[in-house]
Amino acid sequence: MRVAIAGAGITGLAAAYYLRQAGAEVVLVEKEPRLGGVVRTSRVRGCIIECGPDSFLAAKPAALEIIRELGLESDVIGSNDHGRVTYILKRGRLLPLPEGLMMVAPSRVRPMLSTRLIGWRTKIGMAAEYFRRPPRAPGDRSVSQFLGGHYGQEMVDYLGEPLLAGVYGGDPEKLSATAVLGRFLEMEQRYGSLTRGALAARQKARGAGGPLFRTLRQGLGSLIEAIEARILGQVQLVRGEVETAHQHDGAWRLRVNGSWLDADGLIVACPAWAASSLLRHSSPELASLLDTIPYHDAMTVALGYRRADCSHLPPGFGFLVPMRERDRLLACTFVHNKFSGRAPDDLALLRCFYGADLMAESDETVIRHTREEIDRILNHRAEPLFAEVSRWPRAMAQYTVGHPGRLAEIDRLATQLPGLRLAGNAYRGIGLPDCIASAREAARTLTAAAAPATPPA
Ligand SMILES: Cc1cc2nc3c(=O)[nH]c(=O)nc-3n(C[C@H](O)[C@H](O)[C@H](O)COP(=O)(O)OP(=O)(O)OC[C@H]3O[C@@H](n4cnc5c(N)ncnc54)[C@H](O)[C@@H]3O)c2cc1C
Repeated sequence: MRVAIAGAGITGLAAAYYLRQAGAEVVLVEKEPRLGGVVRTSRVRGCIIECGPDSFLAAKPAALEIIRELGLESDVIGSNDHGRVTYILKRGRLLPLPEGLMMVAPSRVRPMLSTRLIGWRTKIGMAAEYFRRPPRAPGDRSVSQFLGGHYGQEMVDYLGEPLLAGVYGGDPEKLSATAVLGRFLEMEQRYGSLTRGALAARQKARGAGGPLFRTLRQGLGSLIEAIEARILGQVQLVRGEVETAHQHDGAWRLRVNGSWLDADGLIVACPAWAASSLLRHSSPELASLLDTIPYHDAMTVALGYRRADCSHLPPGFGFLVPMRERDRLLACTFVHNKFSGRAPDDLALLRCFYGADLMAESDETVIRHTREEIDRILNHRAEPLFAEVSRWPRAMAQYTVGHPGRLAEIDRLATQLPGLRLAGNAYRGIGLPDCIASAREAARTLTAAAAPATPPA
């Protein structure tokens, strides 16, 4: 079986790897000169700078599984969780997130009682939440409605919103609770109270542990390099943009750089808006539905300082800026604390995270603005040794209210096009493990469907 893959981000590369494992012939098409999509690691003055994602959740196994298969297991490092403190900016001050939180659901009482992040009214409401009963089939709600219903608006504003902004760069009024907080919806169905669900999850997880976030010693770019090295010479790599793809006599025809390319199957591993464009002739209905999945821009700015100039930084992993307190900056990670080996001992590395606000500005303006915000929040006056800006336009899929229903319809329409699989961050999870899992599933189902049926014994 010959399979074409549109897009060589982590999803397309993982799909190519799994297809080769299954013995398929693979043509991988990528429009950019570099493979890896938003996964990119650069090195400046001995610092390892993640321009896109910096780690993955250990609780979702697909990333660790491919890393193991590629022989990179000994390169996996965990976040320095013994020093894990994340701050939230409130009225100009950085207040630590209370310990024992599962997202916004508390699993420990004392830190919640003593935190200055929320007031007494919210704390009393949280105690009452413990006695909630499971609701009757509530339907999809926004993240704000869901979390606000359990813990009140202050918890949404100072915990839910900033934590989710760091993942989706999105608005809790618009994001779908079912798509984004699936685990908490299960808790609600089972226990009624998220606090009781978090306490039960904590009991269950006791003794399991290990760092929450993992990454690779040399950066996530080394995962891209390892997949490239593994598939090198086994996969036909075509540099160009898939302009259109349609079915012809039960097979797929793709137009790339004006020429036609034939395949038995097609994995579309690019963002939904690009998938929509290339499938517009095959299924206008599917294409217009894909086009309704919104994407947000993202931008990261890495700043390197002399460590000696940063002695006043608080300990911990960094801080989040809630929408209510926000100028432009969404979050800032103290990279040299979060992971070991990211910066030489005499340097400190900060990574700032933005949405669309400064995308159109020059690097110079972005850096100037970042320094102003950082200096104000951290009461910091140091001169950075270097700064690096990375822009990711339309990169963050937004699972807005109604996403589960849209997804069901997308699946239904996609099955009407035999040999087509959609994979990537638009559908069932935006994180690296989700993308890798979607690629593996696409490769598995495609090759299984093509395998000749086993003859009866
Ligand atoms: C700044 C940032 C930080 C993040 N942080 C984390 C994190 O810490 N942890 C985590 O788990 N996740 C994180 N994510 C999310 C995660 O990195 C992404 O969801 C994931 O990498 C997306 O991979 P992908 O291959 O599906 O898409 P992309 O990386 O977008 O790759 C798609 C590829 O398709 C190509 N393409 C598009 N159209 C065509 C076409 N018509 N023809 C040919 N090629 C085409 C593009 O050039 C691109 O290379 C982050 C994302 C961003 C942007």
